[in-house]
Amino acid sequence: MNAPLAPQGKIEFIDLKAQYAALRDEIAVRMQKVLDHGQYIMGPEVKELEAALAAHTGAKHCVTVASGTEALLISLMALDLKPGDEVVTTPFTFAATAETIVLLGGVPVWVDIEADTCNIDASKIEAAITPRTRAILPVSLYGQCADMDEINAIAARHGLPVIEDAAQSYGATYKGRRSNNLSTLGCTSFFPSKPLGCYGDGGAIFTSDDALAQAAREIRVHGQSARYTHTRVGVGGRMDTLQCAVVLAKLGRLDWELQRRRELGARYHERLAPLNVKTLAVRPDRDSVWGQYTVRVADRARVQSVLTQAAVPTAVHYPRPLHRQPAYAHLGNPDSCPASIAAADEVMSLPMSADLSDADMDRVVAALAAAVGPRGQ
Ligand SMILES: *Cc1c(COP(=O)(O)O)cnc(C)c1O
Repeated sequence: MNAPLAPQGKIEFIDLKAQYAALRDEIAVRMQKVLDHGQYIMGPEVKELEAALAAHTGAKHCVTVASGTEALLISLMALDLKPGDEVVTTPFTFAATAETIVLLGGVPVWVDIEADTCNIDASKIEAAITPRTRAILPVSLYGQCADMDEINAIAARHGLPVIEDAAQSYGATYKGRRSNNLSTLGCTSFFPSKPLGCYGDGGAIFTSDDALAQAAREIRVHGQSARYTHTRVGVGGRMDTLQCAVVLAKLGRLDWELQRRRELGARYHERLAPLNVKTLAVRPDRDSVWGQYTVRVADRARVQSVLTQAAVPTAVHYPRPLHRQPAYAHLGNPDSCPASIAAADEVMSLPMSADLSDADMDRVVAALAAAVGPRGQ
């Protein structure tokens, strides 16, 4: 029979087009305002966004910067990380987490993850602390915070600051508080595909420590405490006014989007429960905004190819832990962190964004069901 299939749109891995369609007018107005006043660098939208995000997270200060990577780099510089200083972190993350440490001459010290959340295993952190440790850098991977109170308590016992790499978790909550406002410093990214994105590169540092906020503000403009007074070594790390305007335009929809992401995550969990895939655990005292909706499957390459044939896009975050990457392999034992190694072989991310429809999720789930079969087989 040649009966045409019901017309079905392409499933986007992250549907930024639908988001733009919903925000088109607000974004046009916001961007036009910048073009009219012409203050492309450090224009009024920069301060406006910083005030709005500080209020939204509950942190006293927000310092916008050029990217999430820059947020991590400037935070470590504000803490005065020196060559040879150690930073305890996870190898199961995006390269930026460790790259910034190494750029400053520091040494990432790898602590393995929990298999069920893929976040750093807080119970293993204390054993990794040495007299050279200068900071702890957990990652709120896939949009769920690590055990921040436990990590803060360990840090307090050793007099260490904690930097949350919250690039994937803007808006997530932990014991009723927001990601980015859970530790000494929080670093987020506005890369377009993150839970709160701009239309290019951007990021922000959050802190309630006045001195660190001031240091970060100076470092992002070449270490200037006043014009042409370079009090410290800094970088060109500002976020453009236009990108701040894009994020401002998105704020009216943000809480709806975050709620929709939580709902979609719960719906995926429910729909996938009967299937032969492992969904990630979400601890009862926190939520996930599903910066990525990631599951674990055996035989990932085959499952991905079946999904590709069904026009369901997937991605792998991340296929190799950093302690096994060529650039970082000399920093530790490649056979350490077995849970990270196992996760890297199994993780697979499915389409996720606030504009994913229930019907499209059902198509994803049906394709996955065909690939993996029911649980227990
Ligand atoms: C995206 C990301 C970063 C870097 O953010 P950019 O804005 O792309 O520089 C850092 N850490 C993690 C965990 C990320 O996912």
